[in-house]
Amino acid sequence: MTTPHTYITTTIPYVNARPHLGFALEIVQADVLARFHRRQGDQVRFQTGTDDNSLKNVLAAEAAGVPVQEFVDGNAEAFIALREPLALAVDDVIRTSRDPRHRAGVERFWRACADDLYRRHYEGLYCVGCEQFYTPAELTGGRCPEHGTEPQRVAEENWFFRLSRYADRLHELISSGRLRIEPVERRNEVLGFIAGGLQDFSVSRSTARARGWGIPVPGDPSQVIYVWWDALGNYITALDYGTGGENHRRWWTGSDRRIHLVGKGVLRFHAVYWPAMLLSAGQPLPTDIVVHDYLTAGGRKISKSSGGTVDPAVLAGEYGTDVVRWWLLREVPRVGDTDFTVDRLIARGNDELANGLGNLVNRVVAMVHRYRDGHVPAAGSETGTEAEAGTGAATGTGIGAEAEPGTEAKTGTGIGTDAPGSEGLRAACRQAPGLIHAALTAFEFRRATAAVWAVVDEANRYINHIRPWELAKAERDGDFGAAAQLDAVLVVLVRACRVLGDQLTPFLPDTATRIARQCAVRDGKLPDPRPLFRRITAPEPGSTPPPQHDDIEFNR
Ligand SMILES: [Zn+2]
Repeated sequence: MTTPHTYITTTIPYVNARPHLGFALEIVQADVLARFHRRQGDQVRFQTGTDDNSLKNVLAAEAAGVPVQEFVDGNAEAFIALREPLALAVDDVIRTSRDPRHRAGVERFWRACADDLYRRHYEGLYCVGCEQFYTPAELTGGRCPEHGTEPQRVAEENWFFRLSRYADRLHELISSGRLRIEPVERRNEVLGFIAGGLQDFSVSRSTARARGWGIPVPGDPSQVIYVWWDALGNYITALDYGTGGENHRRWWTGSDRRIHLVGKGVLRFHAVYWPAMLLSAGQPLPTDIVVHDYLTAGGRKISKSSGGTVDPAVLAGEYGTDVVRWWLLREVPRVGDTDFTVDRLIARGNDELANGLGNLVNRVVAMVHRYRDGHVPAAGSETGTEAEAGTGAATGTGIGAEAEPGTEAKTGTGIGTDAPGSEGLRAACRQAPGLIHAALTAFEFRRATAAVWAVVDEANRYINHIRPWELAKAERDGDFGAAAQLDAVLVVLVRACRVLGDQLTPFLPDTATRIARQCAVRDGKLPDPRPLFRRITAPEPGSTPPPQHDDIEFNR
C-alpha cells in the first residue's frame, strides 16, 4: 500500500451511565489525531463504540428497574450522540450487544487462542465496578483502589488464559518500542508490572453470575466470556475479523499504524492482556497506546453524581463545541489529573477564543475594510522572500502562502513595502505547521495547541506594536511611505489569520472553517467582519438560567 493507513480507536465505555467529560477528553484527542492524519494524506479509520456486555450494566439496569437491553440501548445512544456536540468525525461505531460483527469476531478470537485457554477452579476478590479480580495486596484497606468498595468473594470454575507464557515477549516488544506506550511514565509502569511476573487470568464467568448477559463461551454454555476479553476484541471485531473481511486486512494486519487511546485506569488491559491475546491468536499488535490521565470535577472524581456539570453534550450546548474542545486540548497536561470547573472553561473560552483569537480575526478583517475597502493589498516585495506557512514538515493546505487572487499586477514597486517588526509573527506562522506536526506525532495535544497559540499571541502583539491606525492616519495626511507600510502590515496580518484558519482545522474544525471564510477573497474583497465567538457570561451562583452571551467588544 502506498498511502499510509492509520487506524485510531477510543476505548469502548461501559454504558451503565451517561457519558461524562473524561470520555470526551479521550474521544476529542482521538478526533484530533484522525483529522491530523487525514490532512497528512493518510487513509484513516476512526472508530469508537460501547461496551454493552458488562455485569456492571446489568446491575445498573436492575437498579433502574429497566430491562438490560433497553437500558444499555438508551445510554449507548447518549454516547453515540456525542458526535454532533463534540464535532467528531467518527467513521464507525460498534456496539457489543447489538452488532452482529462483534459476537462472530469474539467467538473466532476465542477459538484462535484455544492453545492458551484451560479450565480451573478459582477463588478471588472481584470488583464489579472494575470488572476485574484483585489480589489482597492490590486492595487499599480491603477495598478496591478505584472504587473504594469491598470486592465480592467469588469461587467458581472458570476458563483461564495463559498470560504467564507471554511475559518475556511483551517486555521485549514494549521496551524495544515496537509496541509504543506514551507517555514514558506509563510505559515504565507497564514494564514494571510485567517484570513483577504475570499470572494467568480468568476469562469467563459462570452464566449464572453473569445473569445470562454476554457472549457464551464457544462449546461451553455454562460460561460467559469475560467482559474484558469481549470488549478488547472490539478493535478487530468491528473490522469483520469474524468473517475474515477485507477491513481486517486493510486496517489491522496491513495497516501502518494501529493507535489505541486509553485512560490510565485500563492501561493493564490494553498494554498487557490485549497484546498477549493478540500474540496468542497470531495477530499483529497495536503500534501505539496513548494514555491519558483523569479529569476531576471541582476537585472530586467525576462520577454519575457529578451530574450535568460534566455532561459534555450539555457543556457544548451551553458554551459551544469549540470552547469545550479547546479546554480539553489546551488545559489537560500529558501526565497528571486535571480539575475541571465551569469557571475554568469560561475563562479559557473568553481569554483565548473570544478575546485572543476572535478579536484578532475580527480586527484584521475590519481593518482591511476600514482602510482598504475590503481589498487585501498586493503582497509587494515580501512575496517570495519568505517561506510562509504550510511549507513546514506538515503538509497543510498552505493557503497562507498563496498570493491574493487578482493581485498579480504588482503595485507600489520600489516603495519599502516590508512590514517592520513583523519578524516574530512571520516566524511563528512559518514554524507552526512543523511544531504542530512534531507535537501530534508525539501525541502532545497541549504542545500542539500552544504552537497555534503562538501565532495568535504574536499577531496581537504585532498589532499593538505597529499601531496600524496610526499608519492610516499618516496615510490620510499624505504620507506615501505610511500607505505602503500599512499595505504590508495588512498583508502580514491577513496571512497570519489564514495560517490560523488552516492550522486550527484538526483542533477546532468549525472555527477553522469560519476563519478561512472570513479571510477568503470573494469578488475581490473579504467578507464583512463577523464575530467568531461571543463572550460567555458566567451563570449567577445558584441560578439555573442559560448563560447570557454578549457580543465581543471590538476596538479600532
Ligand atoms: Zn473497582
